[in-house]
Amino acid sequence: MPDERVFPGPSPAQADTLNAWRELFESKHSQDFKALKGTDCLEQPIFPFVVDYRDIDQDDVLSLYFNETPVDTIELANEVLRTMVAEYEVSDIRCILRPLALPAERTKQISSLRMRNRGKIVSSIVRIKDVGPRLGYLQEALYVCARCESREFIKQKIARERKRPEGPCQICYEKAMEAFEGKVPYGVYERLRSSMKLTAEGSFYKDIQYLSVSDIDDSSGQPIWVVIDDEYVDAYNIGDTIRINGVVQIDPVPDRNFTKDTRRILQIHAFSIEGL
Ligand SMILES: [Zn+2]
Repeated sequence: MPDERVFPGPSPAQADTLNAWRELFESKHSQDFKALKGTDCLEQPIFPFVVDYRDIDQDDVLSLYFNETPVDTIELANEVLRTMVAEYEVSDIRCILRPLALPAERTKQISSLRMRNRGKIVSSIVRIKDVGPRLGYLQEALYVCARCESREFIKQKIARERKRPEGPCQICYEKAMEAFEGKVPYGVYERLRSSMKLTAEGSFYKDIQYLSVSDIDDSSGQPIWVVIDDEYVDAYNIGDTIRINGVVQIDPVPDRNFTKDTRRILQIHAFSIEGL
């Protein structure tokens, strides 16, 4: 029987974005990949891939999607970097896009952030008031079918309930469809669904950390939380002044008591940090 399963490819917008990132990396950063070849013994297998924000801004496709859906667009850049690292045969190094030098109009005071800023890119000079512990967060969970060992990766979100595969194992489901001639009983369907088990090995954990920050000239003002990740974790101390470039989000942790102050439930997910 021919294999008729169709794997969804990238959407046209995603395909355009992937191509645009690749063109940018090939035209402006081929030296970075060459330099990476000799760096097998880095202390941590992470390479901050610094890109000038002006290069992103000058590209019609990238500037559109980076401003519209920054988180997804950065993720696509990291996907291209992963592929290119493999092509350049750089072993075991994970490149992470770190766009720097945002235009002046992105600079915002922490105290000026409101709900309407959510999803927007901001650049803020802040003082660190508190540093949270290093946290391991499950970024990508690997589920394996207990019956046929087929695998499915499920992307996870910070501080949210863990997401499972939506349906049962596809391979076992197709077998059941054949066996039951197109009408899989509910009980069988549920058993197939629960046969997808989370596996620690192969799941991907990422280091994150929360920084409590406020404007430098506003030490009595309400601080907000900034989420930082990877090489930025454990790199900063209370009292440090830094520039945070990131995306404004709503704090998904609901158990803090700050219903009267809407600023308090906003947080920034940093995609790059500049020391000052
Ligand atoms: Zn299966």
